[in-house]
Amino acid sequence: MTPARVTFLGTGTSTGIPMIGCECAVCRSTDPRDKRLRPSIYVDVPAATRILVDTSTDLRQQALMHNITRVDAVLITHTHADHVMGLDDVRRFNHVQGGAIPFFATEAAWDTLRKTFFYVFDGVPRLGGGIPMIEPHVIDGPFAVRGVQVVPVPLWHGRMPILGFRFGSFAYLTDCNAIPDESWPLLQDLDTVVLDALRDKPHSTHFTVAQALEVVSRLQPRRAYFTHMTHDLGHAATNARLPRGVELAYDGLVLDVDVDVAPVDEQPRQ
Ligand SMILES: [Zn+2]
Ligand SMILES: [Zn+2]
Ligand SMILES: [Zn+2]
Repeated sequence: MTPARVTFLGTGTSTGIPMIGCECAVCRSTDPRDKRLRPSIYVDVPAATRILVDTSTDLRQQALMHNITRVDAVLITHTHADHVMGLDDVRRFNHVQGGAIPFFATEAAWDTLRKTFFYVFDGVPRLGGGIPMIEPHVIDGPFAVRGVQVVPVPLWHGRMPILGFRFGSFAYLTDCNAIPDESWPLLQDLDTVVLDALRDKPHSTHFTVAQALEVVSRLQPRRAYFTHMTHDLGHAATNARLPRGVELAYDGLVLDVDVDVAPVDEQPRQ
Protein backbone atom coordinates (compact mmCIF):
# COMPACT_ATOMS: atom_id res chain seq x y z
CA MET A 1 0.00 0.00 0.00
CA THR A 2 1.22 3.48 -0.92
CA PRO A 3 0.18 6.66 0.89
CA ALA A 4 -2.04 9.17 -0.91
CA ARG A 5 -3.92 12.32 -0.02
CA VAL A 6 -7.52 12.82 -1.06
CA THR A 7 -8.81 16.39 -1.14
CA PHE A 8 -12.55 17.03 -1.36
CA LEU A 9 -12.88 19.80 -3.95
CA GLY A 10 -16.67 19.88 -3.77
CA THR A 11 -19.24 18.11 -1.61
CA GLY A 12 -22.48 19.77 -2.70
CA THR A 13 -25.35 18.67 -4.84
CA SER A 14 -25.72 19.93 -8.41
CA THR A 15 -26.83 23.46 -7.44
CA GLY A 16 -23.95 24.04 -5.04
CA ILE A 17 -24.62 25.39 -1.55
CA PRO A 18 -25.61 28.16 -0.95
CA MET A 19 -28.21 27.92 -3.70
CA ILE A 20 -29.03 30.96 -5.78
CA GLY A 21 -32.03 32.73 -4.28
CA CYS A 22 -32.34 30.61 -1.11
CA GLU A 23 -32.59 32.24 2.31
CA CYS A 24 -32.58 29.08 4.44
CA ALA A 25 -30.38 28.72 7.51
CA VAL A 26 -27.86 26.44 5.77
CA CYS A 27 -27.56 28.62 2.67
CA ARG A 28 -27.02 31.65 4.94
CA SER A 29 -24.74 29.77 7.37
CA THR A 30 -21.39 31.33 8.24
CA ASP A 31 -19.85 27.89 8.90
CA PRO A 32 -17.39 27.40 6.02
CA ARG A 33 -18.25 23.68 6.01
CA ASP A 34 -21.75 24.62 4.81
CA LYS A 35 -20.30 26.11 1.60
CA ARG A 36 -20.34 23.30 -0.93
CA LEU A 37 -19.09 23.44 -4.51
CA ARG A 38 -19.99 20.84 -7.12
CA PRO A 39 -18.74 17.29 -6.39
CA SER A 40 -15.17 16.28 -7.16
CA ILE A 41 -12.08 14.87 -5.46
CA TYR A 42 -8.35 15.10 -6.14
CA VAL A 43 -6.19 12.07 -5.37
CA ASP A 44 -2.51 12.93 -4.95
CA VAL A 45 -0.18 9.94 -4.85
CA PRO A 46 3.23 11.53 -4.26
CA ALA A 47 5.07 8.40 -5.39
CA ALA A 48 3.19 8.13 -8.67
CA THR A 49 0.58 10.54 -9.96
CA ARG A 50 -2.23 13.05 -9.43
CA ILE A 51 -5.75 12.08 -10.39
CA LEU A 52 -8.82 14.29 -10.64
CA VAL A 53 -12.21 12.59 -10.33
CA ASP A 54 -14.73 14.52 -12.48
CA THR A 55 -14.34 18.01 -13.94
CA SER A 56 -16.99 19.77 -11.90
CA THR A 57 -18.69 22.99 -12.87
CA ASP A 58 -16.45 24.68 -10.29
CA LEU A 59 -13.12 23.19 -11.43
CA ARG A 60 -11.35 26.51 -11.99
CA GLN A 61 -12.27 27.83 -8.55
CA GLN A 62 -11.42 24.50 -6.91
CA ALA A 63 -7.98 24.33 -8.52
CA LEU A 64 -7.20 27.90 -7.45
CA MET A 65 -8.44 27.35 -3.88
CA HIS A 66 -6.39 24.21 -3.37
CA ASN A 67 -3.35 25.19 -5.43
CA ILE A 68 -3.82 22.30 -7.84
CA THR A 69 -1.43 22.99 -10.68
CA ARG A 70 -1.08 19.53 -12.20
CA VAL A 71 -3.50 16.80 -13.22
CA ASP A 72 -2.05 13.63 -14.72
CA ALA A 73 -5.39 11.93 -15.40
CA VAL A 74 -9.12 12.55 -15.08
CA LEU A 75 -11.63 9.84 -14.20
CA ILE A 76 -15.30 10.47 -15.03
CA THR A 77 -17.99 8.95 -12.79
CA HIS A 78 -20.84 10.00 -15.12
CA THR A 79 -21.82 12.86 -17.38
CA HIS A 80 -24.37 14.84 -15.39
CA ALA A 81 -23.63 18.53 -15.77
CA ASP A 82 -22.38 19.05 -12.20
CA HIS A 83 -19.64 16.45 -12.82
CA VAL A 84 -18.36 17.48 -16.24
CA MET A 85 -19.08 21.15 -16.96
CA GLY A 86 -15.58 22.23 -15.91
CA LEU A 87 -13.99 20.15 -18.67
CA ASP A 88 -12.98 23.22 -20.67
CA ASP A 89 -10.79 24.38 -17.76
CA VAL A 90 -8.45 21.47 -18.50
CA ARG A 91 -6.88 23.87 -21.03
CA ARG A 92 -4.81 25.45 -18.27
CA PHE A 93 -3.38 22.09 -17.23
CA ASN A 94 -2.61 21.32 -20.89
CA HIS A 95 -0.70 24.57 -21.07
CA VAL A 96 1.17 24.23 -17.76
CA GLN A 97 2.06 20.59 -18.38
CA GLY A 98 2.63 20.88 -22.11
CA GLY A 99 0.41 18.08 -23.38
CA ALA A 100 -2.91 16.27 -23.55
CA ILE A 101 -4.45 14.79 -20.40
CA PRO A 102 -5.72 11.20 -20.33
CA PHE A 103 -9.45 11.00 -19.53
CA PHE A 104 -11.00 7.69 -18.47
CA ALA A 105 -14.76 7.15 -18.94
CA THR A 106 -17.18 4.43 -19.99
CA GLU A 107 -18.22 4.12 -23.64
CA ALA A 108 -21.67 5.47 -22.69
CA ALA A 109 -20.09 8.45 -20.96
CA TRP A 110 -17.91 9.12 -24.02
CA ASP A 111 -21.02 9.15 -26.24
CA THR A 112 -22.45 11.95 -24.10
CA LEU A 113 -19.16 13.83 -23.69
CA ARG A 114 -18.68 13.92 -27.46
CA LYS A 115 -22.12 15.54 -27.83
CA THR A 116 -21.88 17.92 -24.88
CA PHE A 117 -18.39 19.09 -25.84
CA PHE A 118 -18.73 18.69 -29.62
CA TYR A 119 -16.19 21.47 -30.25
CA VAL A 120 -13.50 19.48 -28.44
CA PHE A 121 -14.01 16.22 -30.27
CA ASP A 122 -15.37 16.89 -33.79
CA GLY A 123 -12.02 17.75 -35.31
CA VAL A 124 -13.43 20.84 -37.06
CA PRO A 125 -10.96 23.74 -37.02
CA ARG A 126 -12.42 26.81 -35.33
CA LEU A 127 -11.37 30.42 -35.42
CA GLY A 128 -10.04 31.64 -32.09
CA GLY A 129 -10.54 30.11 -28.66
CA GLY A 130 -8.39 27.18 -27.65
CA ILE A 131 -9.83 23.78 -26.93
CA PRO A 132 -8.81 21.34 -24.19
CA MET A 133 -6.47 18.56 -25.25
CA ILE A 134 -7.86 15.26 -24.07
CA GLU A 135 -6.59 11.73 -24.63
CA PRO A 136 -9.67 9.47 -24.44
CA HIS A 137 -9.52 6.07 -22.73
CA VAL A 138 -12.50 3.73 -22.45
CA ILE A 139 -13.07 2.07 -19.08
CA ASP A 140 -14.04 -1.58 -19.50
CA GLY A 141 -12.52 -3.04 -16.36
CA PRO A 142 -9.80 -2.32 -13.79
CA PHE A 143 -7.02 -0.09 -15.10
CA ALA A 144 -3.92 1.74 -13.92
CA VAL A 145 -2.87 5.38 -14.02
CA ARG A 146 0.94 5.54 -13.89
CA GLY A 147 0.85 2.38 -11.83
CA VAL A 148 -2.00 3.45 -9.50
CA GLN A 149 -4.54 0.63 -9.63
CA VAL A 150 -8.12 1.77 -10.18
CA VAL A 151 -11.11 -0.53 -9.78
CA PRO A 152 -14.29 0.84 -11.38
CA VAL A 153 -17.32 0.03 -9.24
CA PRO A 154 -20.63 -0.11 -11.14
CA LEU A 155 -23.42 1.78 -9.33
CA TRP A 156 -27.03 2.69 -10.03
CA HIS A 157 -27.89 6.40 -10.17
CA GLY A 158 -31.62 5.96 -10.66
CA ARG A 159 -31.81 4.08 -13.98
CA MET A 160 -28.41 5.34 -15.10
CA PRO A 161 -25.43 3.01 -14.68
CA ILE A 162 -22.48 5.04 -13.41
CA LEU A 163 -19.09 4.33 -11.82
CA GLY A 164 -17.57 4.69 -8.42
CA PHE A 165 -13.82 4.19 -8.11
CA ARG A 166 -11.78 2.15 -5.68
CA PHE A 167 -8.09 2.94 -5.11
CA GLY A 168 -6.48 0.49 -2.65
CA SER A 169 -8.49 0.62 0.57
CA PHE A 170 -10.31 3.85 -0.38
CA ALA A 171 -13.51 4.07 -2.45
CA TYR A 172 -15.39 7.09 -3.81
CA LEU A 173 -19.04 6.31 -4.51
CA THR A 174 -20.93 9.48 -5.39
CA ASP A 175 -24.28 9.85 -7.19
CA CYS A 176 -25.91 6.51 -6.44
CA ASN A 177 -29.05 5.11 -4.89
CA ALA A 178 -28.23 1.41 -5.23
CA ILE A 179 -25.19 -0.85 -5.33
CA PRO A 180 -25.68 -3.81 -7.68
CA ASP A 181 -25.02 -7.32 -6.34
CA GLU A 182 -21.89 -7.74 -8.45
CA SER A 183 -20.29 -4.61 -6.99
CA TRP A 184 -20.38 -5.60 -3.30
CA PRO A 185 -17.40 -7.98 -3.69
CA LEU A 186 -15.41 -5.04 -5.13
CA LEU A 187 -16.00 -3.15 -1.89
CA GLN A 188 -14.67 -5.68 0.61
CA ASP A 189 -12.18 -4.62 3.31
CA LEU A 190 -12.33 -0.87 2.76
CA ASP A 191 -10.60 1.41 5.20
CA THR A 192 -12.37 4.56 3.98
CA VAL A 193 -15.52 4.94 1.91
CA VAL A 194 -17.15 8.09 0.53
CA LEU A 195 -20.86 7.76 -0.17
CA ASP A 196 -23.61 9.84 -1.69
CA ALA A 197 -26.04 11.06 1.02
CA LEU A 198 -28.21 13.71 -0.57
CA ARG A 199 -30.66 14.54 2.24
CA ASP A 200 -33.16 12.81 4.56
CA LYS A 201 -36.12 12.89 2.20
CA PRO A 202 -36.19 10.02 -0.31
CA HIS A 203 -34.93 10.71 -3.83
CA SER A 204 -35.13 8.62 -7.00
CA THR A 205 -31.42 8.78 -7.86
CA HIS A 206 -29.49 9.43 -4.63
CA PHE A 207 -29.10 7.67 -1.27
CA THR A 208 -30.64 9.39 1.72
CA VAL A 209 -28.64 9.67 4.94
CA ALA A 210 -30.45 6.62 6.34
CA GLN A 211 -29.80 4.57 3.20
CA ALA A 212 -26.13 5.59 3.14
CA LEU A 213 -25.86 4.50 6.79
CA GLU A 214 -27.27 1.09 5.81
CA VAL A 215 -24.52 0.76 3.21
CA VAL A 216 -21.93 1.72 5.82
CA SER A 217 -23.19 -0.92 8.22
CA ARG A 218 -23.00 -3.56 5.50
CA LEU A 219 -19.49 -2.54 4.34
CA GLN A 220 -18.07 -2.00 7.84
CA PRO A 221 -15.24 0.36 6.80
CA ARG A 222 -13.05 1.96 9.45
CA ARG A 223 -14.53 5.34 8.52
CA ALA A 224 -17.12 6.76 6.14
CA TYR A 225 -17.73 10.23 4.73
CA PHE A 226 -20.88 11.47 3.03
CA THR A 227 -20.97 13.81 0.05
CA HIS A 228 -23.30 15.44 -2.54
CA MET A 229 -25.47 17.02 0.18
CA THR A 230 -28.32 19.47 -0.37
CA HIS A 231 -29.06 22.45 1.88
CA ASP A 232 -31.32 20.19 3.95
CA LEU A 233 -28.21 18.97 5.78
CA GLY A 234 -26.37 21.56 7.86
CA HIS A 235 -22.85 20.36 8.59
CA ALA A 236 -22.68 20.65 12.39
CA ALA A 237 -26.25 19.55 13.11
CA THR A 238 -26.04 16.54 10.80
CA ASN A 239 -22.66 15.40 12.09
CA ALA A 240 -23.97 15.55 15.64
CA ARG A 241 -26.52 12.82 14.86
CA LEU A 242 -24.26 10.52 12.81
CA PRO A 243 -22.77 7.44 14.46
CA ARG A 244 -19.10 7.18 15.39
CA GLY A 245 -16.85 6.79 12.36
CA VAL A 246 -19.30 8.48 9.98
CA GLU A 247 -19.12 12.18 9.08
CA LEU A 248 -20.22 14.58 6.41
CA ALA A 249 -17.32 15.51 4.18
CA TYR A 250 -16.75 19.20 3.48
CA ASP A 251 -14.96 21.19 0.82
CA GLY A 252 -11.24 21.25 1.62
CA LEU A 253 -11.28 18.14 3.83
CA VAL A 254 -8.09 16.14 3.27
CA LEU A 255 -7.86 12.42 4.02
CA ASP A 256 -4.77 10.26 4.21
CA VAL A 257 -5.50 6.98 2.45
CA ASP A 258 -3.60 4.01 1.05
CA VAL A 259 -3.67 3.14 -2.64
CA ASP A 260 -2.28 0.23 -4.68
CA VAL A 261 0.64 1.10 -6.92
CA ALA A 262 2.32 -1.36 -9.27
CA PRO A 263 5.77 -0.54 -10.65
CA VAL A 264 5.73 0.92 -14.18
CA ASP A 265 8.43 1.57 -16.75
CA GLU A 266 7.52 5.18 -17.26
CA GLN A 267 9.12 8.50 -16.69
CA PRO A 268 8.79 9.69 -13.11
CA ARG A 269 6.21 12.41 -12.61
CA GLN A 270 7.40 15.96 -13.03
ZN1 LIG B 1 -24.08 14.88 -9.07
ZN1 LIG C 1 -31.07 26.87 1.21
ZN1 LIG D 1 -25.57 12.65 -11.17
